[in-house]
Amino acid sequence: MISRKEIEKVLKSYDKKNLSLATLCSHSSLQIFYGARKEKVHTIGLVTNEAQKKLYDAFPKAKPDEFIEVEDAEDFPESELLSKNALIIPHGSIVEYTGDLLDGLKVPVLGNRLSLLWEKDRTKMFEWMKKAGLRTPLIFNPDKIDRPCVVKHLGAKGGRGYAIVHSSEEFHSKFENVKGVMVQEYLTGVRVYPHYFYSPLSKKGYRASGGHLEMMSIDRRFESNIDESYRTMMAGVPIKASFTVVGNEPLVLRESLLPEVLEMGKNTVEAADKLFGGIPGPFCLELIVDETLQFYAFEISARIVAGTNIYPEGSPYSVYSFDENMSTARRIAKEVKDAAKKDMLEKIAY
Ligand code: AMP
Repeated sequence: MISRKEIEKVLKSYDKKNLSLATLCSHSSLQIFYGARKEKVHTIGLVTNEAQKKLYDAFPKAKPDEFIEVEDAEDFPESELLSKNALIIPHGSIVEYTGDLLDGLKVPVLGNRLSLLWEKDRTKMFEWMKKAGLRTPLIFNPDKIDRPCVVKHLGAKGGRGYAIVHSSEEFHSKFENVKGVMVQEYLTGVRVYPHYFYSPLSKKGYRASGGHLEMMSIDRRFESNIDESYRTMMAGVPIKASFTVVGNEPLVLRESLLPEVLEMGKNTVEAADKLFGGIPGPFCLELIVDETLQFYAFEISARIVAGTNIYPEGSPYSVYSFDENMSTARRIAKEVKDAAKKDMLEKIAY
């Protein structure tokens, strides 16, 4: 793992008036390029083929200022990015496709690159959630399953390939290899995915750790085919529940639930401080609220999530915090500008 000192050196050498934000053209890149443009920050889109650029012809206002073609998603053009004073904005596709590449990359990553390792490893993620005092689903030894459980594979897969099992016999009939598999109690209730932004640069609002926490927005995912299963049931078509994420829809919470949601965000930030040196920037908790209004957390995304794509012009929460239309991506660009002005980039990137 490249040291913080080395990244600090890179950041010190950057021309603070000519920074750029670079990301892989996928996941939340439209929002990232659009939001950065609003803040007049230069953007670089990394594409793996010519055809990928075509998407941005359809959405010209969300097209990056420049493209850099790369062989594959793992092939970050380090020296070119360094020469353009670039910070990488990590998103779900980067976490999924780049393997351990970010570990040694000399280009600064917005946030804390260590947090992405904690996101990638489910055991570590549960340690993080526990440290934050979040209520989590029970984890079962495959030989001791006594209730409906969801079986998840290693890594961030957006729900693909998950299976429901009700007993150890059923588990073993479906899975030969138990390595890297996590068996979680199946939680029932409403899914709620709040999007937070933690800034260590000032203490002006809702205090958390040495800085403050902002509540950007909330979404709920739409997953195939569980989320349309009432139609199949009514049509008399039997299906096997699956959880492949297809898209996202907006959600606002009962106002009385917001204090707890903010508290959980704050505790997640403070646990990150203790475990691996903090989590500046955007992150999301994946929660389920049961009928007694108890929250359970089953995942943390330690970077911008695709659910924020619903709100390129802000959300029902961001309007209460900002005078401008504020998306999570625009907030990132604003933070980078602010940190550059205060000569504090090392506080928000590693
Ligand atoms: P994940 O990959 O952990 O984000 O999960 C993908 C989807 O599977 C979630 O959005 C939920 O709909 C569902 N899911 C994951 N974990 C659980 C759980 N413990 N109980 C019920 N549903 C879950």
